[in-house]
Amino acid sequence: MTVAYVDPSSNIRDEIASGSGMPELPEKIWFHKTASAVIDAGRCIGCGGCIAACPSRSIGVADDGKPTLIKMCTGCSACWDYCPLAGLRVERLTKLLSDELTDSQAFPVVGDGQGENELGEFGVSAASSVTTNFRRPFIGGSDSLGRVSSAYSSRAISKAAGAQDGGVVTGIVAALMKAGEIDGAILAKKHDAFRSSPFLATSVEEVLGSAGSVYHQSHPLSILNQSLPAGVRRLAYVGTPCQISVLRALQKYPWQYRDTAAGAVVVTIALFCTRSFDPDSLEEAVRLSGVDTSSVSRLDIREGQLIAQDGLGVELLNSPVRRFSAAGLIGCEECLDFAGLNADIAIGNVGSERGRSSVLVRSEIGERMIESAASSLTLEILDDLTPISGIADQDRKRAEKTSARGIDSDGALWISYGEHLARYSGTDRSPKAPPGYRSYHFDVSC
Ligand SMILES: Cc1cc2nc3c(=O)[nH]c(=O)nc-3n(C[C@H](O)[C@H](O)[C@H](O)COP(=O)(O)OP(=O)(O)OC[C@H]3O[C@@H](n4cnc5c(N)ncnc54)[C@H](O)[C@@H]3O)c2cc1C
Ligand code: SF4
Ligand code: SF4
Repeated sequence: MTVAYVDPSSNIRDEIASGSGMPELPEKIWFHKTASAVIDAGRCIGCGGCIAACPSRSIGVADDGKPTLIKMCTGCSACWDYCPLAGLRVERLTKLLSDELTDSQAFPVVGDGQGENELGEFGVSAASSVTTNFRRPFIGGSDSLGRVSSAYSSRAISKAAGAQDGGVVTGIVAALMKAGEIDGAILAKKHDAFRSSPFLATSVEEVLGSAGSVYHQSHPLSILNQSLPAGVRRLAYVGTPCQISVLRALQKYPWQYRDTAAGAVVVTIALFCTRSFDPDSLEEAVRLSGVDTSSVSRLDIREGQLIAQDGLGVELLNSPVRRFSAAGLIGCEECLDFAGLNADIAIGNVGSERGRSSVLVRSEIGERMIESAASSLTLEILDDLTPISGIADQDRKRAEKTSARGIDSDGALWISYGEHLARYSGTDRSPKAPPGYRSYHFDVSC
């Protein structure tokens, strides 16, 4: 095949391969190719999927906060294949997972998914009376909202300090731990209002201490790369929709030579998400708005506004979030999943009044977990999902416009490096050769 692009990431490995006259396996991808197409092209969304997927544990995080080689790369291609901005076509994965659910009759399909559901009501009669009847699939009927078996506006009966909205995520995870459904939970631990790091909570106290949202992607999936403490076998995973999709890929296509803790995750909770931010850029932008950022203890994104508060709840900033879009992650613009399509449960504030969270239950596991946590929550049926589907549709349109590779639920699940180069070369997201430090070990080893 003739290619009309120049690979900016050509490196000593490529030279050895072509010099030996023995071309490498077609589309064998070294980490420096992933770096070139995603990380140094400015498209990385910090999910940590590449770190989790690397069988030789060769990827860490550099001082610049980006995934970087810390050991020799074996060219196994896993970092490429599981990266949602590189090889993994997330919308195809979503379709495959959704078809599996339909085939297993967990979600008997009724209607054409294009509007009002013939069955009308949810299969739920009253607050905190939860059913496992999947009577209303495809609520709202849009691809961007996904499958919903039941939906609630909810609040934790005892809300954890620092909880973002209804404290429902923390309430569910804590209740599941108390009930023995899980013995660990992968969450994000807040360092300050702008920054977090991934965290494995193994006690209810640790879960309660991790309440609240941080609009920072700190490579949370990387924690799947670590060994689990003794006795920890069943995990909940809380994260943004992109993280949940990569986790699903790791679960569905595990590496035969390598375990990750992905197989231990028994329930996934997605947080609705329109975009995440580079923490330093966001802090700087907030500072330039006249706010002493050392006083900010909490950030909220609600109804299109970015709200900053100090430790006493005094509002320091209330400004349209679009003013801070330059601090947003560029890769998020290519993301079509606002509502956590591949999670068991998806939770956000859109669609519920202040102090409550909207909860979409998507799977039989999700229903069972909500039932298990129901006594810790107030659950009111959420009938109007249009605020959620409206934002989900907007995000999908943004992705369709921004993604150079296009959105194609029926396309190949894995996108090759060659195809990526062909699609992205010459765009403002075109691949860029990584700096030496990102693939340093690659140059000096072997
Ligand atoms: C980057 C980002 C963007 C979001 N954008 C929207 C939006 O546009 N619209 C909307 O309705 N909702 C959005 N949310 C979700 C919203 O902020 C709340 O998280 C959600 O409503 C749940 O609130 P809660 O009070 O029930 O959760 P809480 O009880 O406060 O629990 C939140 C849980 O999420 C975990 N967590 C927090 N930040 C992260 C993170 N970055 N990665 C992984 N886990 C994390 C915490 O450890 C905690 O366990 C966003 C969240 C994030 C992280
Ligand atoms: S988007 Fe995720 S998987 Fe891709 S390079 Fe960044 S951290 Fe790794
Ligand atoms: S907008 Fe999409 S890619 Fe960005 S953090 Fe949210 S879920 Fe991930």
